[in-house]
Amino acid sequence: MTKPDTQISRKLFLKMAAYAGVALGTGSALIQAACGKKSGSEETADQDPTKVPRRVLGKTGASIPVLSHGIMYNLVENQIVIHNGLKWGIDMIDTSHIYAGGNSELGIGKFLAKNPEKRKDIFIVSKASKARTAAEVEERLQTSLQRMGTDYIDLYYGVHALSDPAALTDDLRKWAESAKKRKLIKHFGFSTHQNMAKCLKAAAKLDWIDALMTSYNFRLMQDPEMQEAIEACHKANIGLIAMKVMGVKSREEDDATIIKSFTSNGYTDSQAKIKYVLDDKRIASACVTMNSVEQITENANAAADGKKLSRADEERLEQYARATCGSYCTGCAEICDRALPAAAPYVADVMRYLMYYHGYGERAMARSLFREIPAGTRRRFARLDYTDAEKACPRGIPIGEMMSQAVRLLS
Ligand code: SF4
Repeated sequence: MTKPDTQISRKLFLKMAAYAGVALGTGSALIQAACGKKSGSEETADQDPTKVPRRVLGKTGASIPVLSHGIMYNLVENQIVIHNGLKWGIDMIDTSHIYAGGNSELGIGKFLAKNPEKRKDIFIVSKASKARTAAEVEERLQTSLQRMGTDYIDLYYGVHALSDPAALTDDLRKWAESAKKRKLIKHFGFSTHQNMAKCLKAAAKLDWIDALMTSYNFRLMQDPEMQEAIEACHKANIGLIAMKVMGVKSREEDDATIIKSFTSNGYTDSQAKIKYVLDDKRIASACVTMNSVEQITENANAAADGKKLSRADEERLEQYARATCGSYCTGCAEICDRALPAAAPYVADVMRYLMYYHGYGERAMARSLFREIPAGTRRRFARLDYTDAEKACPRGIPIGEMMSQAVRLLS
């Protein structure tokens, strides 16, 4: 049964409070204190209300829109979103080798074939999905270039979904340098949605990481460790892009109260969530999946209107984050992996697939990702004892119940 916001258990709240330390409920103040004025990501001056503002992406020096397109879907049949986004100045497009089975990159290729003059105006980001070696990264890059019909990619993530900094090898550094020399990529980095704080802190020590994309939203922004990691990258002048900005949960719950509270205040909840993230000036862009003109209009209006959220609205989001923390997996996979048998390290992945299923409505994609887990391992999910992992989880997530649900819904 859905748990109303107001009925969060005291035990769960205290668990979350211990996790977030003294900063719980003061996320915005924490960020303001950390931001300072030194920035690789400062907003540029002219603020046309019909265009989303721009910020500099750290050491890349590139000027990018504060709202960017995440294209996880088939773009071949949905070209209007690129045209419509460009009207708002949304000229940064994030894709990957695997999105929509290649139809995301092929859609960019279709657009560029018809509008070759636009290539110079578009900042393309892609990722070497599931590559384990530098040779595989090279193979992914070549395929992506071919699909998009372009000679170069502006920002290339050599690791898609980094969860362990050990994957940032010297071989990968050499490959990145070579790809830049060959003018196949302009900038290099990675994306991460698991163990993000650890990955970001490691990146801050590597001078060959130009920019990265991390999960970051009104929930994760309350985590002091995440704030330290963002600040470390900011000081190292690494360009920062936020994803999973909506902080969508892994469980289906009734969000009518929070949605109504923002609507009555003039914003949709999506608009409020985007504004909350963009108020952190260390973040150069919020990358949001937008697959319709309506979504672009809604989100671009929020990014372009130049208004800050009121403190009351910020507090509403922070209170909502606390009240629903038991439904949002923060991707700290190391914690639950340590408490599980070695053959079952999939909890954070499965929570993310449930998020795609419930929150994004991307049921086919969620099922397809789930089915990539070896069948024998999947079958064990419903039988495993997750008690130790549940005790270790800082969010109080009912892992066992949700793993069983995943087997039911995604098999
Ligand atoms: S289930 Fe809990 S411990 Fe595991 S990754 Fe999610 S939030 Fe972290």
